[in-house]
Amino acid sequence: MDLQSGKLFWPTTVSNPPVYPPLAEDIQCDVLVIGAGISGSLCAYHLAERGLKVAVVDKRRIGEGSTSANTAVIQLSGEKSFVTLANHFGEQIISRHIHLCWQALNELEDICTKLPINAQFVRRDSLYYASFTEDIPSIHKEYDFLSRLGLQVELWNEEQIRAVYPFRKPAALYSYNEAELNPLQFVYGLLEKVKSLGGSIYGETEITGRRKDIKDAVFYTAAPRRHQIKAEHVIIAAGNENRDFQSEKNAVMVSSYAVITKPVPDLSSWYKRTLIWETARPYVYLRTTPDHRVIIGGMDKDTTIPEARDSKIMRSRDKLMEAFHKLFPDIPAEPEYWLGGFLSVTHDGLPMVGQYEAYPHCHMVMAYGDNAIVYNAVLSRILADVITEGSSPDLSIYLNTRPLSQK
Ligand SMILES: Cc1cc2nc3c(=O)[nH]c(=O)nc-3n(C[C@H](O)[C@H](O)[C@H](O)COP(=O)(O)OP(=O)(O)OC[C@H]3O[C@@H](n4cnc5c(N)ncnc54)[C@H](O)[C@@H]3O)c2cc1C
Repeated sequence: MDLQSGKLFWPTTVSNPPVYPPLAEDIQCDVLVIGAGISGSLCAYHLAERGLKVAVVDKRRIGEGSTSANTAVIQLSGEKSFVTLANHFGEQIISRHIHLCWQALNELEDICTKLPINAQFVRRDSLYYASFTEDIPSIHKEYDFLSRLGLQVELWNEEQIRAVYPFRKPAALYSYNEAELNPLQFVYGLLEKVKSLGGSIYGETEITGRRKDIKDAVFYTAAPRRHQIKAEHVIIAAGNENRDFQSEKNAVMVSSYAVITKPVPDLSSWYKRTLIWETARPYVYLRTTPDHRVIIGGMDKDTTIPEARDSKIMRSRDKLMEAFHKLFPDIPAEPEYWLGGFLSVTHDGLPMVGQYEAYPHCHMVMAYGDNAIVYNAVLSRILADVITEGSSPDLSIYLNTRPLSQK
């Protein structure tokens, strides 16, 4: 699949990326992880930490999947509000989901402190503003729900927003302690850690076939090498390409866009360099980078055809820049990198773990959504529990067999 096009920023931030050669022999392991993006790397990290023998394979060079397009905004909320999710799944389930996401966010910070490569994890507050006055009630409801659960959120009115930002918005939810990171350095850090714990990482190693085996999973790599990998458990973490293994009716792909500016001289008008996003759909979101760039993303489109996605890259770049200049007219920013990429989401708004009869011994990670990093952190921990302890009380929230929404 042609995952993304354009000029990517994150690869330019890694001067000496680790090299992972292709698999050159038959191997046996406790867990085979297919895919070395954020999904697969986080799963491999947890399992290797728990003492399992892990092998990770990726058909591309490591880091060349969707993860290199990820703008790495790390938040609690996804595209659907928690109130909407609670109306569909019930308050109890969504309260637990929020708790797991919050735990995952904290755990991401903790993991980053243990990696041999600096993933540039930085805590940031976030501002979720009402794009239109009609959206004020939904901001109020979201605030009521989250504050009832004890989350550190505030409801801001127009004057409060105006007092610290150079723009006017009618209301906003201000959340404390969310985060940002460098997704590529995070993946390299995780994989280097896995290696140091005895795991093996193979780039340019595509899984193209398997043998159904009662006791173990047996997968084959592409010809001409065509090696066999035998494993007790398999995690399929192929991102948007999970659908090459198994289609999933709750999943859908969209196109998303981003622009990364040249470093800007002064960010002092950007209150605490918060993550910023909005109630409009599709939305625009913003963050900054350690080297004083601005990342502006969003403008999602319902297209799954690479040519149609790519034909909108330049227009989306210009519209994203325009949206930024409206918010921060005093920051002279010029685009330097821009891209369009596929992003998988779910109809019902929660990420998924797929367990399918056709794939015994396998778990498919579908941390789909704009909040994929946090979802990956939630799902990778649950899967580590399922594999090492036999079960997790939270698995049922995310299993592909949960009821679908009416959308
Ligand atoms: C423009 C854009 C912005 C985004 N911004 C954010 C954001 O701000 N915050 C956030 O949380 N998420 C964001 N996302 C979502 C996020 O990028 C992705 O969901 C996440 O990084 C994907 O990680 P992954 O490991 O699932 O997929 P990938 O990084 O694509 O990794 C999967 C890997 O599997 C490999 N693979 C596939 N098939 C095979 C096979 N048969 N054999 C071997 N290997 C195989 C691929 O080569 C690939 O490297 C964004 C996405 C896009 C496109």
